[in-house]
Formats: sequence, C-alpha cells, structure tokens
Amino acid sequence: MDRLAIVVPCYNEEEMLHMSAEALTKVIDDLVMKEKVSSDSFVLFVNDGSKDRTWELIEEEHKSNPERIKGLKLAGNVGHQFALTAGLITAKDMSDVTVSIDADLQDDTAVIEEMIDKFHAGCDIVYGVRNKRDTDTFFKRTTALGFYKVMHMMGVKSVYNHADFRLMSKRAVEEFSKYNETNLFLRGIIPLIGYQTDCVYYDRKERVAGESKYPLKKMLALAFNGISSFSVKPISMITGLGGVIVFLSIIAAIYALISFCMGSVVPGWTSLILSIWFLGGVQLLCIGLIGQYIGKIYIEVKHRPRYNIEKVLDK
Ligand code: UDP
Ligand code: MG
Repeated sequence: MDRLAIVVPCYNEEEMLHMSAEALTKVIDDLVMKEKVSSDSFVLFVNDGSKDRTWELIEEEHKSNPERIKGLKLAGNVGHQFALTAGLITAKDMSDVTVSIDADLQDDTAVIEEMIDKFHAGCDIVYGVRNKRDTDTFFKRTTALGFYKVMHMMGVKSVYNHADFRLMSKRAVEEFSKYNETNLFLRGIIPLIGYQTDCVYYDRKERVAGESKYPLKKMLALAFNGISSFSVKPISMITGLGGVIVFLSIIAAIYALISFCMGSVVPGWTSLILSIWFLGGVQLLCIGLIGQYIGKIYIEVKHRPRYNIEKVLDK
C-alpha cells in the first residue's frame, strides 16, 4: 500500500498547530482504517523559521505520536513557497504520495480521501480547487480574480482558484525537484510537469485561529513573481509599444509636413516634434529588442527540464 505524507508549511502557527495535528492525524487514521494508505503514513510539519513557539509545539506533537507526526525545521524564514518545496522534497524520499495543505485548515481536509482515490485511479497530480470564495473578503476575491486573468493573458498556465492544496505522486515531486529556479511560483510550475491530473472541489473555510501570513504586500510580490517567472510577454509589450510609437511618428511626420507646407507653424517646430516622437519610438523599440535577448537569457538560466518522459514502449 502507498505511504502518504501530508506536508504542512508553518510560519508562526502556534495557535493552529495542535488543532492541525489533531485534524490531520485523524484524516490519516481514517484512510489507514479504510485501507487506502499504509499504516506508516504521516504528517510532516515544516517550520519556516517561526518566531513563536511553533517548533517547540511540533516537537511536542512528534513526541506524543512519533509515527504520525514528523517535523522539519528550516534554519530561517524562507517563505511559504520554499518551505513547501523543502517539505515536498524531503517527504518524497519517505513516502509514495504527498498532499500539501496549509496549517490553518482553511482547505477542506475531507477531500484528501477523494484525492487519494483519484491517485489510485491513476492521477499523478490532483488539484484542490475552491468552489466559491464566500469566506474571503470582497477585496481578496477581486484581486485574486484579476490576478488569474492577468496570468492567463500573459500566457501562464495555472489552475483557476487553486492554491497550494494538492496531491502529488512521488514521481511528480521528483520531476518537480528538477526545477531549480529561485524565483519559485509553484502554481505555475506544477502544470508544466505533465502526467494525468484532475481536480477535486471544496469550499474554503475561514482561518480557524491566528491571522493570515499573506498580507497584501506578500500577495503582490507573489503575483509579480508568478508573472515574471513564467512570461517574457511584458518585454514583448515594450517592443510592441515602440513599434506603435514609430508608426504614430510617421503619421505625425505627414501631419507636420503638411502644416509646414501650409506655412502655419512656428519655425523649428516640425523638426523638433518629429525628432521627439521618432527617437522616442526607436529607443523603445531598441530597449524592447535588447529585452527580448534578456528574456531568452532569463529562460535559459532557469535550466528547466525540457521534457518529462512518462513511458517508453520498447521490446
Ligand atoms: N507560511 C509559511 N511561511 C511564510 C508565510 C506563510 O510557511 O513566510 C505558511 C502558513 O503558516 C500557512 C500557509 O503558509 O500554513 C499559508 O499562509 P496563510 O494561511 O497565512 O495564507 P492565506 O491563506 O491567508 O493566503
Ligand atoms: Mg490561510
């Protein structure tokens, strides 16, 4: 049977830790009883350099139930995306399948069973997708929607309304670990892995205790990171803008020449206005062109795997 690891990144989650440990242990016990996962399945709490007693609490939980609760202590705060990555990559060597979930129990632990069922049916990645966002503030809902729209426009593949609550098989995590980039945006990388994927739907609840560790500033940083790590479209836009301005300057040139011929202009105006427009356009075009090369270098230095072979038919 498959050994399940539930990976939970924690940053200053002392109010939540015991509750999370209890709830997730129950999920695993339940799955073990139903013979869906092996009896040595476990929860891996990743302490992301918390400033409060989170790590001490993880140690306590581990002591009281060493088989079910395991801990991973990062030496400092590296942020949710890296903490989760550290947890997944550590867990993959100890398990056959991982599920990542936030410590605040906002995601519905009940659908983990459904995820496991889909895994057994042959899926390597199962996304947890929120049905509705009633519990989020209006502001968070609209900004999130805008974010997905912009991402989509920029050509980044990502699953709508999916945060980092997902199941990944061992081989999916192994493939993911080949993505060495430092500008990490998991939601964009995971769809690049391939394999059979599916979604499970749930209603996102309110945070049980503690407060959000994702203030607006961090959200904006994540959003910008998501776009800039996956898309060089903004550079193409600059090139495009340069082209448009050069084109406009040609129209302006015609207009200025006509005005000049009709003699209704101040001396010097024509040449001045034309050089401003034309030079501005040419400069933007050139910056965009240089940007295109930088964009290529950027993609190149990521050293992303170029493909992922799933099967070979031989013999
Ligand atoms: N988290 C983390 N490191 C950080 C910030 C957050 O590991 O620097 C964890 C946090 O403990 C939680 C998860 O990431 O388990 C999601 O954070 P939160 O629930 O605060 O985000 P929100 O749901 O409000 O977007
Ligand atoms: Mg949360």
